[in-house]
Parts: sequence; C-alpha cells; structure tokens
Amino acid sequence: MSLPPAKRERFREISERLTELGQEFAKNIRENTTRLQFTVEECDGLPQSWLDRVPRDDDGNVVVSFDYPDYVPFIMNARNEEARRRYWFAYTNRGTPRNLEVLDEIVALRKEIADLYEVPSFAHYVTKRNMVETPETVNRFLTEVRNVVTQAELRDLGALAELKAEMTGLPVEQARIQRWDAAFYRERLREQRYAIDQEALRKYFPTPAMVAWMLDVTSRLYGLRFERATVPLWHEDVIYLDVFNAGGVRASSRASEGAPEARTTPIGGIYLDLYPRDGKYKHAAAWPVRGVSARTGRKPISALVTNFNREGLTHDEVETLLHEFGHVLHGVLSNTYYLAHSGTSVERDFVEAPSQMYEEWASRVESLALLRTHVGDAPAIDESLVQRLRASNKFGAGVDYGRQLLYASFDMALASENPGRTLDVWSLMEGATPMGYVDGTQFPGTFEHIASGYAAGYYGYMWAKAIALDLLSAFGADIMNDEVGRRFRTMILSRGSEEPARVMVERFLERPVASDAFFVHIGGE
Ligand SMILES: [Zn+2]
Repeated sequence: MSLPPAKRERFREISERLTELGQEFAKNIRENTTRLQFTVEECDGLPQSWLDRVPRDDDGNVVVSFDYPDYVPFIMNARNEEARRRYWFAYTNRGTPRNLEVLDEIVALRKEIADLYEVPSFAHYVTKRNMVETPETVNRFLTEVRNVVTQAELRDLGALAELKAEMTGLPVEQARIQRWDAAFYRERLREQRYAIDQEALRKYFPTPAMVAWMLDVTSRLYGLRFERATVPLWHEDVIYLDVFNAGGVRASSRASEGAPEARTTPIGGIYLDLYPRDGKYKHAAAWPVRGVSARTGRKPISALVTNFNREGLTHDEVETLLHEFGHVLHGVLSNTYYLAHSGTSVERDFVEAPSQMYEEWASRVESLALLRTHVGDAPAIDESLVQRLRASNKFGAGVDYGRQLLYASFDMALASENPGRTLDVWSLMEGATPMGYVDGTQFPGTFEHIASGYAAGYYGYMWAKAIALDLLSAFGADIMNDEVGRRFRTMILSRGSEEPARVMVERFLERPVASDAFFVHIGGE
C-alpha cells in the first residue's frame, strides 16, 4: 500500500527515529558497565571452571558483569538464595530506566505508523504480511496456549517447590519458587530425576564428530553430498563445503537438478565457523551469504556461526547446531526462480519452523544411531540415555512456555490499539502469572526483541514451533525416512517464499495445519 507524499515523509521520519531508538536501546544494555561483587561463600555451587575464570577484587570477592557466561551459570548453580536474588534483580534492571522511556517512544511511533496506514494497530500493520494474517489469529492462538500452559506451569512449579522444601528444610507452603529460584531448582531436579548433567554429556558428543554426523544425517535425508573445498577464508578455523546432489537422486521439482551435471557441479556452498575467538560474534546464528536465483544461475551460500567448545557439545548445544543448520539448509537447498523468493525470505512467523523441526534429530534413536561411525572411542549413546534426555528436556516446558506466552502477550499488548505505558502493562501482566511481579524490576527495558524488528512478532517462535511439530508428524516413527525427507526438501525447503507458507505446508501435510502436537508438547509429561 503506498502513502500520499506528506504521509510518506512522516513515515520516513518515524522509520529513522525508530532505528535510532532501537540502537540506543541495545547500546544501553550492551554498554552497561555495572559490576556486582559476591563473596566466595556466595558462589558456593558454581563450577570450578567458572570460579577460575571470573576476576576478583582486592578483597578476593568475585566480580561479575551482565554477560551470559557470568550470569547464566550463577543463576543455575549458586546455592545461596539471597545472592541469586541480588544478581537476578540487578540483571532484570540492566536496561536502565532510560530504556523504559525509549520503549514508550518506540511504541507511540509504531502506533502512529498504523494511523498513517489507516489500520487499527501496529499489530494489524505487521501481521498482514505474516502467516497468521491478523492479530485476531495470534490472540486466539495465545488463548489456546494459555489454556494448556497454565496447568503445566503450576505443576512444574509445584515439583520445584517440593524440591526447594526438601533442600532448605522449609515447610512446602513456604518454599514458594521465586523468579531467581526457577533455573536453580530446575537444574537440581534434572540431575536428581534424570541423572542428566549437561557438562558430562560433552564426552558423548565430540564436536568435529558431531558436525560430520550432522552432514551424514543431512546427506541421507535430502540426497546430498558435502565436499570440503578450497576457497578464501577469514580465519583458519573456518571450513567451506560444496553441496552436491548425490548421484542418481532426483530431489527437486526442477528438472535440471536430476541431470548428471548437477552431480558434478555444486548446487550451493556452506561456511562453518564453529569456535570462539576474540572479537567474534558471541552467539549462534546462520546467515544467508548469497541467495539463489535459478533465473540467473546464482548459487546459494549460507554461513553457520557458533561458539562451541572444541572438545565436545552439551545436548543443548547439539540442538543449537541442528537448529542453525536448519536455517542454513533452508537457504542452500532453496532453488527459486527469483532471488526475492530465495531461502529464508519466507513469512517471519514461518522462518523458525524448519530450524526448530531439525532440533528433533538431536533426540531420536534413529538419527543418533548413526553417531557410531563418527565418534570413534566416545561412549555409546544407548536408548535409556536418549529417553532420559527427552524426559529431561520435557520437564520445565510449563515454566518455559509460560514465559514465552507472557512475552508474546506483552508484545501484542504493546502493538495493540491502546498500548499504554510499557512498565504499567508489564507489571500488570507479569503480576498475573504464578511467580508474580517483583516490585522495582524493569524487565521491559531489557527486552531487545520488542525494541527491534521482532515487534508484534514474538508469538512467531511458538507459532513456528507448532508448525515444526506438525511438519515432524509426517516422519512418523522413523525420523530418517528419506522419502519424507526428499518430499520436505522439494515441497518446502527448495520453494523459499514462492508461495505462502500455509499453502506449501498444507500441500506437504495433505491436510490443514494443526496445533495438536504443540499443545501436547507444551503440556509436558
Ligand atoms: Zn532460529
């Protein structure tokens, strides 16, 4: 929809201001130099490797920042509740009060964009380009999620409160799980109930072998061959792979791919940059380096960037590896006529579906059985370990999805017709959850997704997860079924955004999309 000139000018001003505000918001968090001190006694429970790494002050106290590697192990492992509370409280306020003002201005400007386009809300403006099409579909979905997740969250918190009572000697009625308790007791429960210690899993999942395994699984599933190639690289750790169609496979709807030259000419390329180094991006991500265009003969290239331990991966990291590689495959296996339709250029609430789907290959006997040929002397993964991993991953789904639901609902509220002040909206909404709102906390000032391009789109993580689990159902009991894999490649991955995601997904499933599998998943147990 095009705007008349005066409105177009105002839209341009708003867009520029939103970019500035988004950058300021991120900067206020990133450049927050606050440090907290904890005595060594307050750090009881933390792994020795963490204690060896963090700096000390002159009195021998540990000095920590708001970086994940400082904070996450602390909140998961520190036995001292008051220390956890103090760190959690500061962490929740790390956005600084200024970020609340920034966010209020962002929200008001977005409402003005909706007014310029004469739609009722910013959510209407955003969702019309998404799979859901309207805010009503999102809100209906979130209501369905709430119906399932509330019970699951209360059940999880009940189990954690029992453990807290047992470990602290408090009567269970007084052992209420606070926000700074949830991660700690959840880890303890995982250890007790499922005998899963993420750190100890690294010996089962040697990093280079896991990459070889993932390429093996992918080759079988989608009819591919990966070959290391010599190209200019930005660091000696980086690997480049040519991607070929495996011999005799006619994997795509496009006739050219089944032709003999497709077996000797790469269909695309992949950079793998797996290990940490100074100055490198700190998270895990996949980026399209170049999109495909069958019209001009452009080959797609994607990059996978992670910061893995060289020795081995935790199970969570195996899932991360597969997740990001799912994005890579969406880019590299796409074979669209136009560049504009290539790879991950799909609706924003669909883009996480293929990647979330691929995580499942980390937790199934059929795919993990293929590890044997890659891991050498590493201990074997038996069925009992796979079952325990699955059960342990499931535990806490109520707490996790309760939080996701709150984030998504808050995001939709700020993008609604009457947004209100962000902290007021948040304290009311968080106050209505089982763990409640803690006075003086300012979580919205840290919520970068909402300040950036994810506004009115946070629901997309859960929506795409529902699609992912629905897609997965096509594989049934055998996740290595290559006939389904090739159909998935042809009907979804190779198509990019040539058609609306819903049309392609429903053609693949041969039925309308359904969220049943997702509701079972978030219900846990
Ligand atoms: Zn992703």
